[in-house]
Amino acid sequence: MKKSLLLKQLSFQEFFRHLNSENAAAVSVVTPNRRLAQVLKDCFSREQSNRQNAAWRTPDILPINAFTERIYQEAVYSIHSVEIPLLLTVTQAHALWQTIIQTSETGSKLLNTMQTAQSAYEAWQIVHAWRLTSDMHAYYLNDDCSAFQEWMEQYQSVLRENQYIDPACLVDLIVELCTQIEFNRPDNLYCYGFELLTPQQCFLLSKLQALGSKIHCVIPPYLNHQETGNANIARVSCRNTQEEIYQAATWARSRLEADCSVSIGVVVPALTNCRSTVQRIFQEVMQPDVRDALPQAQSQQKDRPFNISLGLPLTAYPVVDLALSVLALVQRGLTFDRASNLLRSPYIKGGDNEMHQRAMLCMQMRQKAEPFVTLEQLVSLLNVISQQSEQNTGNCQIQNPVLLEIFTALLSFSQTDIPHRSHHATYARLFLQMLQIVGFPGERALNSTEYQTAIKWQEVVADFATLDCVQESTSCAAAVEKLNAVVANTLFQPQTPHTPIQILGVMEAAGMVFDHLWVLGLSEEHWPMPSRPNPFLPYELQKKAGIPMKSTDEALNYSRQLQKNWLRGAKEVVLSHPVFSDGADAQAIAPSSLIRGIPERTAAEQHYKLHRDLIVDAARVERIIDHHVNLSKVPKVTGGTAVIKDYAACPFRAWAKHRLRVMDKDRPHVGFNARERGLLVHRVLHLLWQELKSKETLDTVLQTDLEKILCSVASRAIEEIGQWRPCVLSKRYRALEHQRLIHLMREWLDIEKKRDSFSIAATEKKYQLQLGDLALQVRVDRVDRLANGQFLIIDYKTRSYSISSMLGERLDEPQLPLYLVMTESDGPAVAGIAFAAINPGQMGFSAIVNETGLLPGVKAFSELAACAQFSTWHELTTKWKQDLTDLANGFISGDARVLPKRFPLTCQYCDLQALCRIHERFKNPDEE
Ligand code: SF4
Repeated sequence: MKKSLLLKQLSFQEFFRHLNSENAAAVSVVTPNRRLAQVLKDCFSREQSNRQNAAWRTPDILPINAFTERIYQEAVYSIHSVEIPLLLTVTQAHALWQTIIQTSETGSKLLNTMQTAQSAYEAWQIVHAWRLTSDMHAYYLNDDCSAFQEWMEQYQSVLRENQYIDPACLVDLIVELCTQIEFNRPDNLYCYGFELLTPQQCFLLSKLQALGSKIHCVIPPYLNHQETGNANIARVSCRNTQEEIYQAATWARSRLEADCSVSIGVVVPALTNCRSTVQRIFQEVMQPDVRDALPQAQSQQKDRPFNISLGLPLTAYPVVDLALSVLALVQRGLTFDRASNLLRSPYIKGGDNEMHQRAMLCMQMRQKAEPFVTLEQLVSLLNVISQQSEQNTGNCQIQNPVLLEIFTALLSFSQTDIPHRSHHATYARLFLQMLQIVGFPGERALNSTEYQTAIKWQEVVADFATLDCVQESTSCAAAVEKLNAVVANTLFQPQTPHTPIQILGVMEAAGMVFDHLWVLGLSEEHWPMPSRPNPFLPYELQKKAGIPMKSTDEALNYSRQLQKNWLRGAKEVVLSHPVFSDGADAQAIAPSSLIRGIPERTAAEQHYKLHRDLIVDAARVERIIDHHVNLSKVPKVTGGTAVIKDYAACPFRAWAKHRLRVMDKDRPHVGFNARERGLLVHRVLHLLWQELKSKETLDTVLQTDLEKILCSVASRAIEEIGQWRPCVLSKRYRALEHQRLIHLMREWLDIEKKRDSFSIAATEKKYQLQLGDLALQVRVDRVDRLANGQFLIIDYKTRSYSISSMLGERLDEPQLPLYLVMTESDGPAVAGIAFAAINPGQMGFSAIVNETGLLPGVKAFSELAACAQFSTWHELTTKWKQDLTDLANGFISGDARVLPKRFPLTCQYCDLQALCRIHERFKNPDEE
């Protein structure tokens, strides 16, 4: 504490006696922060309970900022006719700094003015707290410092002209007002937990002292201990940070189990970086029951014995994230994943009642949506899917009337009620209206955290609405962006019941007293803390002023002071450090030089097993190989020839896809994906051959007429597929796709022209096939009637396939042999089957035919090495029939073996690896 202000020192016990005395009404206690004020209040209440008191007066304990703000409020409402400037909020002050920086010559070149405004505001606070205004000119000012000078002068003149004051200068105003107004001045003011008072705070306290208040400095309980008196201090080394956190958690649990009334502190210097790891490990050690990690009703939630002090940005809370998603959707759109979270959120109307349908809907939307969707596109998709599901299936599985209603209402509101430019207050009101339209925050009762977060959200929106007093009107996009920034800069920690274990950052632990304390992460990388000088103030000035953490010397002194207080502040103190850094390339790191002198101790190895592991350990495991599904009746199977194809590749794959209907979720994609482009080619060829009908027409049609036909069929195909993906086809994209299809068809027709005459017998024709007990619905791309009266079955492909994929017991491409054997008995003989590869640069047929010359460059099967084992066409078709019937019967019999045809090739692009766990099975060959 500064020597310039002499304060009466008071022991902690005496301080509590004063708080209990009769005239405690005229007593106030100030602390450096809100946390310490709360801790002191709790401590006082516990002492009253220990004394068996039934009731007591709540002491006036508050952070020093709240104390000055309270005096300001009294001045505003006092009866004295004093002109009081308007106190800006921190958000308003930041916004004002940002505006000044943006409009300045130096600031206009900056990319991130928001971050600059924050640093500049911190510099402004330092200048006032440490009274540096007059000293600044005595130092060399670099470009950053000169720019800050310029901004500061402008900021001061805005404050002056508008009669504003900001929180950084509030104390100076209060000191002025003290003599002009009457306010509720405490007779005794106690300062608790200040490592250091700034000159500005000293000025305020000396003013109050001059007015007659007695100012006391309370000596924290740990300062009463002798440093050497605490023999229970140890240094512990752990392999890495994860192990360190685990050791700290098991240690805390063992201390709590030994005595549930103790207070335990765990200090983590780099808490911001490892908060989620700390939370996970403490949760596992303190609440090993895996069911506690599941989302559950509030009544079933168990109170955790630990609390992490560091708040998270408000954006990290789902309820606020949802609110921001709605605003972003209206303003410009969302990534599909975020939009999908929004649709399935419980924080909008119908979230619980339509939960299942909304999940199904999102699966459908994945096929049709782009990776980024606007509100218009979302509503259009909702309508299309809703209509299609009604027409095609007639079922209500993806009918979401409430969802459709609220998003349609939101779209109409956004198109009519949102001005392009307006005031912040107007936008704040409109934002809340939009959220109201979607039924935010949902219909179910919020739990305590959600409720507190929703209240905080409203406070932040109200704060945002007050920006009008420092900023001009704004556009809707800028308003949403600013609100996002305000929310992201707001750290929030919901209040929780008192917990025995407190996990804190270094600064928050200052002034706290515990029975047991563990400080982790004290490696030479992190301890002492690195200095953080402000870039807008001369370094030498910050150093000379002795501002904590702003120069290397002060950071070292401050770290030493904190460590000294830790060692005196608890009955047991453990200081730990990792031996290796984190990450894949872990390097050895030494303990901090500040703790090397402390004797090292081996941490007691304690392991608390998860319930899951205990259950697994206790279970008697019986292994059953179960790869056959018994069926009481032949099931209805969908999927066409894919059933046989999948079964041939792997029986488990066929069972999972066509019996269990397991499917991987589609990924929203830009434009058409390969499957959709394939569909487009199929559709164009179908329409084209419906027009041409035969090779003769193709040969005789005029080139201009052919071009017209191509143009027309390409347009019709694009139109049809456009209904399937309504959001994809912009005018430009449509034109490009049209052009591509026409080029492709021209190239393909050149191949067709080389063939002998044929006519089209069928295109895209559906057949009902019966293969053993298996009934299949199939669609054949094209059947040509050749000059000799025989048929040729053609399957269009957008890449080339080898004929070997149609041969063997487990065929890779069984559909063409399947069409052949199933249609053969119906009429004229089938002369062959052919893949038509319609791919630029790879155009052509690969086919198995009974005679040479049926297709350009294709030999008869009898001349192919791959078909050498078959002496006649009949022998080949009989073999196909036998193999395909075996496959169909295998599937129908319930065979579900995990048996890929060629591991790992067959599994390479299969979506079911997580379900069949093929990689685990192959580790255990006995099972196969
Ligand atoms: S990943 Fe392999 S083994 Fe598993 S289902 Fe797919 S093909 Fe079969």
